[in-house]
Amino acid sequence: MPKEQPIEPPDEIMERIRHALEGTGTDVKFVMANPNAPPPAPEKESEDESAEPPEDDEDILQRLRDFSFKPREIRDHLDRFVISQDEAKKVLSVAICDHYNHVRRCMENPELGELDYAKHNVLMLGPTGVGKTYLMRCAAKLIGVPFVKADATKFSETGYVGYDVEDIVRDLMRVANDNADLAQYGLVYIDEIDKIASRSHNGVRDVSGRGVQVNLLKLMEDTEVKLLSQTDMLGQMQAFMQMQATGETPQRTIRTRHILFIVSGAFDKLPEQIQGRLGDRQIGFGRGENGLEDELASHYLKQLETRDLVEYGFEPEFVGRLPVRVVLDELDEEDLRSILVGSEGSVLNQYRDDFAGYGIDLDVGEDAISEIARQAHGEKTGARGLMTVLERLLRDFKFELPSGAVKALSLNAETVADPTAALRALLDANRDAERTLMRRDVLDFAQRLGEAGGVTLVFTPEAADAIAELSLSTGQTVRMLCEERFRDFVFGLELIVLHSDRREFTVTPEGVENPTQVLSDWIRESYHAG
Ligand code: ADP
Repeated sequence: MPKEQPIEPPDEIMERIRHALEGTGTDVKFVMANPNAPPPAPEKESEDESAEPPEDDEDILQRLRDFSFKPREIRDHLDRFVISQDEAKKVLSVAICDHYNHVRRCMENPELGELDYAKHNVLMLGPTGVGKTYLMRCAAKLIGVPFVKADATKFSETGYVGYDVEDIVRDLMRVANDNADLAQYGLVYIDEIDKIASRSHNGVRDVSGRGVQVNLLKLMEDTEVKLLSQTDMLGQMQAFMQMQATGETPQRTIRTRHILFIVSGAFDKLPEQIQGRLGDRQIGFGRGENGLEDELASHYLKQLETRDLVEYGFEPEFVGRLPVRVVLDELDEEDLRSILVGSEGSVLNQYRDDFAGYGIDLDVGEDAISEIARQAHGEKTGARGLMTVLERLLRDFKFELPSGAVKALSLNAETVADPTAALRALLDANRDAERTLMRRDVLDFAQRLGEAGGVTLVFTPEAADAIAELSLSTGQTVRMLCEERFRDFVFGLELIVLHSDRREFTVTPEGVENPTQVLSDWIRESYHAG
């Protein structure tokens, strides 16, 4: 909004001013600054100097040509972010190293790429929220390759309705900024793969699941994907117009032989099925204690054989394209604790940053960490439960504290158990500081308003206190309250300046109580004086 602009005062104000001017024979017109403009934003801090500049595509390709990571190095990197899941880290590190070593050799000697090579596509089995996606993201980031995640439930066999499996490769292109050289070395992660199992329902196999598997297995091995989808009408029309204009067919393709595929699923029914195969009928999957159930599920999943997946509803050829398999464990309370305090990507850091953005220091005590982990474990959504609990716990603090005087928030077990009471106690303990802050807000407002009208406007300490009390009792911010209450002052003061020499005004508690009356008096006085 421009700073200076002609303003037509609202009718009610005009009316009040005319009332104040009755008998003076004067009419009015205003040109004024916009006093309601927010105070200038604080100067933006300089960009984080330590942030590394983004790599360009050629740098990434060069890194792939020089690929020299060892599995242990990748595992060490994953350890910084992902807690537990040691087996999965090991398996992924090896699969990724094998894959990108092969890519490096093919880049050095393209003929090698034409020879048969069985890719190390990976199948991860495990419940939600235990770090499957996170592992993949961290690994992709370390290597620098484009990464996409998709849900197998979105795929339709034909692609006419919904998402075609080949669209994943097109997504990879988008992530790689349309650079096919880079996209062809990407990482693709497909979750909920168990949902495309063509399990038999009453003896009839689900055909569409089977169709998706067949499409996907071609993709996982080596196929050419047209970058323009059959169903992308706009793209097709653009290509057609380009062809008419230039005589060239612009259709480009991308080969998938160097894309590494990682698929995953919860496979809820698989543990019982494996148990059945093993003939371990004596221990059932109880509905009761979850801990035992989780351990049992993981115990049986670890004895997975190819035939179990075939029986589950996967085509043998499909399972054959997934030679690397690993089971991820449920996260227990202790793991959740470790995620909070030990993972470089802990959500707690995010919350600390959020509060720090308002100049508030967030400190989370050991007992609070334990309580958050305990509650999060009860959510049964793995590490996602941490986010749920923290959100619930800190929502009101995040709403109330930024506009208050509190500069430090310390969480302990009681805060976590009853955040509402803790917030109230914190605000009560800071009432005095809060009032001081509010008085300062009143002075800031008076200064802005005075400057806008070219006068000195002062609120007595008692008047500032009266506003602070109003703000505390109504819950309205001082700024909002003042802007509403003293809205007419903008025009009134301008008017006084036009007609008198008076440049200093003091607002007392009566002025806070009845601002319209006080302003009318000032205006009248100025006309009589002038
Ligand atoms: P999923 O297993 O369903 O793919 P995610 O990897 O998406 O779960 O996990 C959701 C979030 O929870 C991650 O972004 C991460 O912040 C956190 N998280 C999950 N598992 C772990 C773990 N083992 N270690 C550290 N953080 C984790």
